[in-house]
Amino acid sequence: MQAHQFSYKAVCQYKFFRSLKSFVCIFKLYFSMDEFHRLFEVDSRSRILICTSCQYAVVPAHLSKHLRTHHKRLTLQQRRAIISAVDEISILARVPSDVVYPSPNDPPVANLPVYFDGLKCSSIDSRGVPCSYICRTPRGIREHCEQKHSWVNSQKRGGDARSKQVHARNKIWTENHACQRFFRVGVWQHYFEVAGKT
Ligand SMILES: [Zn+2]
Ligand SMILES: [Zn+2]
Repeated sequence: MQAHQFSYKAVCQYKFFRSLKSFVCIFKLYFSMDEFHRLFEVDSRSRILICTSCQYAVVPAHLSKHLRTHHKRLTLQQRRAIISAVDEISILARVPSDVVYPSPNDPPVANLPVYFDGLKCSSIDSRGVPCSYICRTPRGIREHCEQKHSWVNSQKRGGDARSKQVHARNKIWTENHACQRFFRVGVWQHYFEVAGKT
């Protein structure tokens, strides 16, 4: 009888601690997911994950490193919960070609900076399709035009180098376009034009 009472008590304690453990797990998971929603936004149209704190999109495969590097205050539990939540979001682009970019007339994408110094290539190919490449440095647009359109800078040597590059007499680009970028790493990063403020 004594042994039976002891084992009954032990079972009760076991069940209690097991439910307590489950409750703590759910509690931790809830707050971990709270961190996910506090930090990230999924843009399902562009198929990207935006870190609203860092203000750029994070490649899913780089998420673990991103959290370790830029969000050090997160616990291991919170980082793991965020990573497994992102693993479940099948709509996110896993390769650069999966990303869907807005059209130039679309409003800026929320939670990302908008730059108003975009230099946009105005070249049009033989089928009438505009190139529309856009970047933010005179060197970048010059190199693009040289490499993609065999453009040759007709500007004479000498004078202010930056002014010369931006204002080349035969330039095939236009200035001051509103633009944004999603990613900041390697082949994932490039600028795209958006509608400017009206
Ligand atoms: Zn971040
Ligand atoms: Zn071009």
